[in-house]
Amino acid sequence: TKVTTIEEANALIVRHGERRKSLGYDTDGVVVKVNAVWQQNILGSTGKDPRWAMAYKFPPEQAETTLRDIVIQVGRTGVLTPTAVLDPVKLSGSTISRATLHNEDFIAEKDIRIGDRVIINKAAEIIPEVLRVAVEKRTGEEKVFHMPTECPECGWPVVRKNGEAAVRCTNPHCPALGREGLIHFTSRDAMNIDGCGPAVLLQLQERNLVKDPSDLYLLTADDLMELDRMGAKSANNLVRAIAASKENSLDKLLFALGIRHVGAKVARTLALKYQTMDALMKATQEELAQIPDIGQVIAESVVTYFGDPGNQDYVERLKELGLNMKMLGTAASNENHPFYGKTMVFTGTLPTLDRATAQTMAQEVGAKVTSSVSKKTDYVVAGADPGSKYTKAQSLGVTILDEAAFRRLLENRDAQSSR
Ligand SMILES: [Zn+2]
Repeated sequence: TKVTTIEEANALIVRHGERRKSLGYDTDGVVVKVNAVWQQNILGSTGKDPRWAMAYKFPPEQAETTLRDIVIQVGRTGVLTPTAVLDPVKLSGSTISRATLHNEDFIAEKDIRIGDRVIINKAAEIIPEVLRVAVEKRTGEEKVFHMPTECPECGWPVVRKNGEAAVRCTNPHCPALGREGLIHFTSRDAMNIDGCGPAVLLQLQERNLVKDPSDLYLLTADDLMELDRMGAKSANNLVRAIAASKENSLDKLLFALGIRHVGAKVARTLALKYQTMDALMKATQEELAQIPDIGQVIAESVVTYFGDPGNQDYVERLKELGLNMKMLGTAASNENHPFYGKTMVFTGTLPTLDRATAQTMAQEVGAKVTSSVSKKTDYVVAGADPGSKYTKAQSLGVTILDEAAFRRLLENRDAQSSR
């Protein structure tokens, strides 16, 4: 629609805000654009956003419904999450019958009771949430909710640690952990294994064919054909999809491991930084905490995870099964790296890195590592007691880096590729 004044544009947005409720699809806003191309050119853009187009976002829609029950879901980290079961209600184009209640503090704070009339909202792409209770509509029949003291999946006691809102199952072998861990492992942002949905995984777990995700890689088409509604063709496809996931890049695998606080984005940051699983497993908490966007909580979680012998065995098993343990697909971005195509020699004892790790780190960004210094050498990375290579480098005028300088240059790539 073409308008000539800003008042007309505003009126149109208000009209559209009413009209969108009766549309057959979801809309979350209106974009106002300058129509003439020559005016667009004058206005130009800031970075990637044009100055001649502006989005107006409608506020999230709300709806009122009755909260029938509160059920508990146990996630892959053993956290018990209370979920509201609602009388189905239309909201932003979809029918909502469940909403998250996050944790018991959330429920207490909003004084949400079973049987309450509640106002729910749903912002774009966000799980529906209970906004508030229509307290004035209470009848006195509403029941106060209490978190269970036992895990609904396995019956073990639950605990709530000091300072945490989450209540967890204390059973390290709670069936929910295995099941949710499998679902997470195969999910799109993790190993992205097609045809391996929750229904298939649940059967595999029940039949004891799969205990942890590493068992997936041992499945044969015959194993899979035992499952309900699994023909030879789908079974073969699934075996192939599982095998193909071995080639996934380190960031996918890292996310798939399900380390606490390591989401898809953090996994990518870590994979880019360390390039290999081995290098990451050797990283110290101090080192990790210094990486931008990581911080102490994630650093501690990563170190705790890899410090656990059970997890070490698990990673080792995945490695033996042939899963890729390296960051892939960054070769192109390495071309701008200061070490790309450079010949490097390492000598002496570095303060924190062992030599093999330092060499791998350089190789991962495209450096050629050699053992002797010559005129062709671009950099010598020298630690304590460097010996004759150091003096030779000095006499040839080769650039000598200490570990700190090496790391600074190495990290240069991160700064470039994250842009
Ligand atoms: Zn449990």
